[in-house]
Amino acid sequence: MGHHRVQELRRHGPDVYELVLERNDLAFEIGDCLALHNEAAAQSRPYSIASGQDEDSLRFVIRRMVGGVVSPHLCELRNGDSVKVNPPFGWFRPGACGENAPFVFIATGTGIAPFLSYLRTPQRPAPVRCLYGVRALHDVVERDWLASQCELGLAISREDSPGVHRGRVTELLSDLPETPDLHVYLCGLDTMIDEVSDWFENRGLHHTQIHREVFFHSA
Ligand SMILES: Cc1cc2nc3c(=O)[nH]c(=O)nc-3n(C[C@H](O)[C@H](O)[C@H](O)COP(=O)(O)OP(=O)(O)OC[C@H]3O[C@@H](n4cnc5c(N)ncnc54)[C@H](O)[C@@H]3O)c2cc1C
Repeated sequence: MGHHRVQELRRHGPDVYELVLERNDLAFEIGDCLALHNEAAAQSRPYSIASGQDEDSLRFVIRRMVGGVVSPHLCELRNGDSVKVNPPFGWFRPGACGENAPFVFIATGTGIAPFLSYLRTPQRPAPVRCLYGVRALHDVVERDWLASQCELGLAISREDSPGVHRGRVTELLSDLPETPDLHVYLCGLDTMIDEVSDWFENRGLHHTQIHREVFFHSA
């Protein structure tokens, strides 16, 4: 347990923020989460680390949940404020499927965070594709940078945007190359994760090739 100072809070859209904390030499694995606290409310929630393993800072991508206890608190922090943090933990390990196995990343919303951590860590094999579904264009984090790092498939469900698929990220699955040894890493909303898992299992992938991290449960 420790306290980490806020270096920056960047707003990406009305409800999506990037929180940057001092790292203080904290060691972590790609895919790890930290429990971040709202000390006044004596509560914490897990947030996936979005920074690369070699960076000096800890970065998070946080959706502000209306009426929430912790996320609105985090989205109101100021530079220099201190955040109580529990030691890293996690079982979701993007890209850790072995040297030669191809893999895809599929995220909804802030579920992009562990994939950013992977892609921001140098000298890793690239995913076959990174599919990223959001509600609106302003929810997209690091679009240009992501597109420079991997083959990005963006889906926006609630508005039209030039050159972007209008609809759900699951509608992009049929464009993926058919590869029996593919590993699939899924992060974000439970309904997307269930639907995509079923889609791949129906096409013959073993459940051990499908790796899941649920951030949010549909209401
Ligand atoms: C392993 C893990 C990693 C996570 N990583 C991240 C991350 O990197 N970034 C991130 O933003 N979040 C992440 N989350 C979610 C995060 O932990 C919190 O659950 C989230 O921020 C809400 O916390 P809160 O205290 O603000 O809201 P709470 O006080 O827990 O709930 C607030 C209100 O939101 C409502 N609510 C809950 N879920 C939904 C929903 N899906 N849609 C609409 N309303 C809802 C509740 O009913 C409640 O009224 C992660 C979760 C897990 C389990």
